[in-house]
Amino acid sequence: MPGWHPNIDGRGITRHIEPDRWTDTWTVEGLTEQQKLRSTATHEAAHAVLMSLARVPVLSITVCTYSDLKYCDAGSMGAVDIGPYDTDLLQLCHALAAGERAEECLLRESGLWSVDRAWTVERHASSDRHEIATVIRKHSSQILTYGQSEDWNDLATIHRNTDATIARHWAPIRELADELVVHRQLTAERVQDITKIPNPAPPA
Ligand SMILES: [Zn+2]
Repeated sequence: MPGWHPNIDGRGITRHIEPDRWTDTWTVEGLTEQQKLRSTATHEAAHAVLMSLARVPVLSITVCTYSDLKYCDAGSMGAVDIGPYDTDLLQLCHALAAGERAEECLLRESGLWSVDRAWTVERHASSDRHEIATVIRKHSSQILTYGQSEDWNDLATIHRNTDATIARHWAPIRELADELVVHRQLTAERVQDITKIPNPAPPA
């Protein structure tokens, strides 16, 4: 399988090659505020749909723009607030990978895809990837690998399976993202209305 690329600054291994020269990922990404808002909304909507499928309760989803970033929690442009859950490890990994995979899917669909932009999507998902590595380490005897094998714990395999789930649920992901672009925040009830996936009862 084609190799992934350790980044020169030591802050990640990416499937897309790092640009030759860059100062910050936002400049490389080069999206307008509205394009970025839709991208963030699609990222969070995909997390929410795959979390729901994994029986993780989605309590709310929030997104914001560059301009109103100061009003959002934790300095992040988007967040899915979740409740206590009892799920299986693979489904959780797919839900955590869904944000970046849906963003790349949107870039392709919108005609905005480039290698450099796809690379920034990966870099902006570093906390999601860190979380995947953490849950794999915590709940199995394996570690997360990057494009090294076809095994379940390799991010390439996780991405492939995540992509298949996203493709099956692209319509509600798009619909949630559309609502997020307009309202910036969605409650659990609204998320359920759109996805038609009920929130599970909290684990005993
Ligand atoms: Zn994410």
